[in-house]
Amino acid sequence: MAAHLCFTHTHWDRIQGFPFFGPAFDASSRLHIYGAAALNGASIKQRLTEQMLRPNFFQPLQTMTAALTFHNIQPGSPISVGEVRVDTMCLHVHTSALGYRVSWQGKAMVYASDTDPTAETPDPNLLFLAAGADLLIFDGTYLDMAYHDPESHHQAPWEMGVAIAKTTGVKRLLLFHPNPCHEDRYLANLEDGIQAGFPRAALAHEGMAVDLFHL
Ligand SMILES: [Zn+2]
Repeated sequence: MAAHLCFTHTHWDRIQGFPFFGPAFDASSRLHIYGAAALNGASIKQRLTEQMLRPNFFQPLQTMTAALTFHNIQPGSPISVGEVRVDTMCLHVHTSALGYRVSWQGKAMVYASDTDPTAETPDPNLLFLAAGADLLIFDGTYLDMAYHDPESHHQAPWEMGVAIAKTTGVKRLLLFHPNPCHEDRYLANLEDGIQAGFPRAALAHEGMAVDLFHL
């Protein structure tokens, strides 16, 4: 198989599955791995390699038999994968998380994680990336943060996602990465509340597939 893996950043919740990624241990695989430098200057290759060193993990990255090609991304510079264009933007000054916009045949999907929930105004980079996208996949971590902390004047991340989607004319909004402590019923109620204000929003779930040509 050939695959292109785009990493937003390397917080553990983003990379701890990588050492268990089966195709990376298949010699017939060709994996292209993309990521920007971390704030300390470490490349994506360096961070994924260090994660798998002892005592963190028993098998170093070098035991992955797939052909791994690492690509260092300069945020703001687009990359091309065949006919697919991938635009990139830095979405958070403290995490240096990368946002991706994947475009093909007039359709566009945007993946935005670790945006700054404390921002008073929408990040211009995110507005640029999301403009007119068919699908915005937006980080909903602490989806209900505002409910738990009534003293907080910060909007909940989902509110920011809805605001961005409305402002930029996004056709469909998916919120991912909810608090794992929340049960399905709770999330279903939350989803109802979000959809009351923005019917084209939904919570992402495992196994979900979205056809951009039939939204
Ligand atoms: Zn993160």
